[in-house]
Amino acid sequence: MDDHERDELLARIEGLATPEPERPTGIDPDVEHEVTVVDAISYTAPNPFAQGEPMSDASPPPTMTSTLACQQCGSTSGWTLRGRWGSPAVISCAAGHVLESRDHRWLVSIMQRALVTAAR
Ligand SMILES: [Zn+2]
Repeated sequence: MDDHERDELLARIEGLATPEPERPTGIDPDVEHEVTVVDAISYTAPNPFAQGEPMSDASPPPTMTSTLACQQCGSTSGWTLRGRWGSPAVISCAAGHVLESRDHRWLVSIMQRALVTAAR
């Protein structure tokens, strides 16, 4: 299994665990939205330090919850998320650095969650 296949598998597993939230009535899927998230963003990812069985399709890797930190300045709060419902978020820190993530599924999900939270 290469990296890409592994990512896809993890995305599927995560997708099963977290159902897609319902789109708030005020959110137009054709319009790009910008949401400011003042608080730290946590995410769940495979635990790279986990001990145990080698990974296989039958046993997904153990996961751990981490706090999102800017890859350039280390900032963990004051994020801006830009994107549409159902599209991946462009996430930038308070200093304007754009976060790089290959996890398309997570970027779509975080955008939806931010929009749901902002619509409340
Ligand atoms: Zn930064």
